Formats: sequence, structure tokens, C-alpha cells
Amino acid sequence: MTRAVYPGSFDPVTNGHMDIIDRASKIFDELIIGVLLNQSKKPMFSVDERVNLLEHLTENYPNVTVKKFDGLLVDFAHKEDARVIVRGLRAVTDFEYELQMAQTNKVIADDLETVFLTTNLKYSYLSSSIVKEIASYDGDIRQFVDPQTEAEIRSKLNDNGGK
Ligand code: ADP
Repeated sequence: MTRAVYPGSFDPVTNGHMDIIDRASKIFDELIIGVLLNQSKKPMFSVDERVNLLEHLTENYPNVTVKKFDGLLVDFAHKEDARVIVRGLRAVTDFEYELQMAQTNKVIADDLETVFLTTNLKYSYLSSSIVKEIASYDGDIRQFVDPQTEAEIRSKLNDNGGK
């Protein structure tokens, strides 16, 4: 049985993330989405809100669970007894950082393998930051995120006076 973790900020989850989750859930027996409690970035959504959104979106995936984590990814993977780290690769701009992370993780935790899934061409431009930026200028984000996520982004922006 192969258990994998798919870590990220997911602030907020986009259709690009969902595409990776869908594909990874078909490759691995179990997939744990690890939502990073990142103190250094100021997120739009709290870690619990991000977990709730992901749980809602993955409710029809019986082999997918969502957990929050803090600290080192390799420690989270070990705690969850996972052997694989899944990451999405959009463009060459992702590559250098992702390669560095994968190599570092290999040095500190030799029992873990990083597996990269290349993005679906449809979503290769898509990032959480782009979605937030378009929404902040009142642009249409319905093709990038699911309806509940869209509504929650709008409500956050209204609470913050549009930004
Ligand atoms: P992080 O802050 O760790 O980069 P993100 O939430 O931005 O977290 O991304 C989590 C993972 O999902 C990363 O591996 C990233 O490359 C991947 N990802 C993000 N957007 C897309 C997309 N549009 N298509 C494929 N993979 C993506």
C-alpha cells in the first residue's frame, strides 16, 4: 500500500490543485493533503478554513484525507507513515525551487520520494495568488475555482474592504 502526501498552502485551493489531487488519488492508494500552517506568509484563509474547503471538495474521494501541518514536511510525512511527496509542476519557473526542495528532502529523509505531476495545460498559468489578484479587482474567477471557494473569496474581500 502506498500512501502519499500532497503538501501546499492552498490559499485558496484552485482547479489546478484539484487536477493534481484527482490524478494523484488514482495513482496512490491513499492521499493525504497537507495544508501548511505558514506563519511567514499572511494567508487570506486561516488554515482551518483551507482544510474545510478542501474537505468539501474531496468528499467524493474515499482515499483522500485533509490534514493541517506545521514544521518540516518530512516530519509530517513520517508521522503519517507516507513514503511519497506529490508536487505539481507548472512551468520551468517552478522547477528550480521544486528541485531544490526535493533534493533537500532526500538528503534529510532518504526513505521519502518526491513525485512530480506536470500540470494539465489548461491550468499551467493558474496560481492561488493570481486568483486572489483577479478577485481583488472584481474580475471573474469562476473558471479557476469552485463556486463555494469563489463565494468565500468574495466574502473575505468584502470583509476587508475589497483587498
Ligand atoms: P506552496 O506554497 O507550497 O507552493 P501552493 O498551494 O501554491 O503551495 O501549491 C501546492 C502545490 O500545488 C505545488 O506543488 C504547486 O506547484 C502545485 N500547483 C499549484 N497550482 C497548480 C496548477 N495550476 N497546476 C498544477 N499544480 C499546481
